[in-house]
Amino acid sequence: MGPQRGDLLRKELEISTFEDLLYHYPYRYSDRSQITRIGFIDPRTEYVQLVGTIINIIEEGEGRKKRLVATLYDETGRIELLWFQGAQWMKKSLRENTRYIVYGKLSVFNGVVNIAHPEIELQSSDTSIPGRQPVYSTTEKLRIRGITNRSFAKLTQALFEKIHQGDIIEILPDDIRSRYRLCSRYQALCWLHYPDTEEHERMARHRMKWEELFLSQMMIGRLRLQHTIQRGWHFEKVGDTFNDFYKNHLPFELTNAQKRVLKEIRQDTATGKQMNRLLQGDVGSGKTIVALMSMLLALDNGFQACIMAPTEILSQQHFFSIAGLLQEMGIEVRLLTGNVKGKVRKEILQQLADGSLRIVVGTHALLEDNVQFKNLGLAVIDEQHRFGVGQRARLWSKNEMPPHILVMTATPIPRTLAMTLYGDLDVSVIDELPPGRQPIKTIFTKDGQRAKVMQFLRKEVDKGRQAYIVYPLIDESEKMDYESLMAGYEQVKMWFNENKYRIAMVHGKQEAGERQRNMQRFVAGEAHVLVATTVIEVGVNVPNASVMLIESAERFGLSQMHQLRGRVGRGAEQSYCILLAGSKISEESYKRMKIMESTTDGFKIAEEDLAMRGPGDMYGTKQSGLMKFKLADIVLDSAVLEETRVAAQQLLTQDPSLSATPHQPLRYMLSQKGKESHWGKIS
Ligand code: ADP
Ligand code: MG
Repeated sequence: MGPQRGDLLRKELEISTFEDLLYHYPYRYSDRSQITRIGFIDPRTEYVQLVGTIINIIEEGEGRKKRLVATLYDETGRIELLWFQGAQWMKKSLRENTRYIVYGKLSVFNGVVNIAHPEIELQSSDTSIPGRQPVYSTTEKLRIRGITNRSFAKLTQALFEKIHQGDIIEILPDDIRSRYRLCSRYQALCWLHYPDTEEHERMARHRMKWEELFLSQMMIGRLRLQHTIQRGWHFEKVGDTFNDFYKNHLPFELTNAQKRVLKEIRQDTATGKQMNRLLQGDVGSGKTIVALMSMLLALDNGFQACIMAPTEILSQQHFFSIAGLLQEMGIEVRLLTGNVKGKVRKEILQQLADGSLRIVVGTHALLEDNVQFKNLGLAVIDEQHRFGVGQRARLWSKNEMPPHILVMTATPIPRTLAMTLYGDLDVSVIDELPPGRQPIKTIFTKDGQRAKVMQFLRKEVDKGRQAYIVYPLIDESEKMDYESLMAGYEQVKMWFNENKYRIAMVHGKQEAGERQRNMQRFVAGEAHVLVATTVIEVGVNVPNASVMLIESAERFGLSQMHQLRGRVGRGAEQSYCILLAGSKISEESYKRMKIMESTTDGFKIAEEDLAMRGPGDMYGTKQSGLMKFKLADIVLDSAVLEETRVAAQQLLTQDPSLSATPHQPLRYMLSQKGKESHWGKIS
């Protein structure tokens, strides 16, 4: 391939080596096993393969309309073949009265079928008719420059002539291959490009999917091993602070799930190893109190603890609730965010450095280099999917030894996804809501019912409750969305008499201070209704709010709606979630509405969401680069995923450092993969 086309391949498809080309798999195959007789061509078929003799090669037309025409015939009929480009070259290479195999796309011109730019080759006695041919993805730019699917096939054909069994090193150990009936790597790659049968294609795909998932499970497994040998602070005892809080200041009885999780954390931190635990609990399940009591455990053992939330509002909320709960015990808690500046900031930094401040709540500001702890023993990270992997890693550098890490998320993560994303972390689940909660009633309705919906909201507000009205704002810069938000705000003000009701609004374009003030008005109960975009999505806790109205609900994803719904139903009152959709919605949107109506189980919703949307956009995994599978699909291939997990665990038990000779190719491959992604830095 010449330098110019080579350049194009690199730019368009990131193919620059033989290896890249080998991994550019065909996405389908064209069937070249059938030969149609010319007299029996069905003009409705797309592609045909013909065998016949070429005659009458002539040039027609003038200038730009110049073309080469040839006739192909067999014993049943004849058809014209046309070339508009490269006519000169074709004219020289085609021979009359010679038999050819022709493959191409039918077009119909004035009621007559012909084929333009067919793939054509001589039928000599030793050309066997090719069977299935690979079809590769290309780009528009490549096609214009003449790099067609056919050129790709030629490239891969040439490639397979150059390479042999020994060039493609097997990375899966023999016993694993025979146990799981996997064909060799070389064989799989050959068959993936040029399968001679469907069975071989299936075997090839299965083998490479298996390999992809197995490699990911091996990386996770090794990371996990690293965690288990990473020494951590030893929390020896449950002391006075914890016990005093538990006996005298805890405002309610813990649920069994909360107790169980605390026990798990207690056990982790008593081993002398570093804890890396993911705490999953649906919205409202009471994760904060678990975080707080874990922090008290750190205090009892002479350590500091911090809790970090992704936004200013959330860290404020944590601060107020935690400081409130600990007030009577005389434990000082302070808030450190980007807005804390000057003298106060200096003072907090000083207190953290000398150890006199034992609990700090904050945002990313906690990660800044000048924030130094005397002895940070536990870091709690709330709503972790908002935090980048790298940011979490920075907590490591705050001490001579890494703190125990508790990551909390309200986004239930389907099991398959958790296995690939967080397989290295231990997982705790709060699968029980505090008692006395009434399940939220979810109602799906359409725009035509708006008046009724507004009446309902007013009735609730008159009972002393508060309501959220959320507008879609998928892209913060989208002008139309802002216009409809503003129009909605004006409308709401009309529905609610301004002398009697107070309406607050928050959205991403407001200046941070203004947004916080408006939010605070609602949190404090001064505003009855909060008109908002999804900035309120995560974590905000206003127990008095009993209605969540979602406008243009058809534009929201399932998990997002579930998160929003979780903002209500936090008190003892009956709460409602109203999904107000446009009059015309797609079948898929309708399905989402029905799922929302039928369940409040976050895990069920997450599974449905994953199945409907695929893992691509969920949980910000796209940027993380952890899930770049070419063939495997963690939803469709969950059985394979399970298999590879077991196989990876077994192998790592046998040979944790992969030092045995047969494991060297695998070890090398893993080290290469590790360089590509940021695996080593997770938590
Ligand atoms: P989330 O898991 O969404 O962060 P929170 O920790 O904010 O949930 O808790 C939601 C609400 O439930 C809070 O008002 C909290 O005080 C209350 N709560 C938590 N645990 C219990 C419990 N065991 N019994 C009663 N109320 C609880
Ligand atoms: Mg929370």
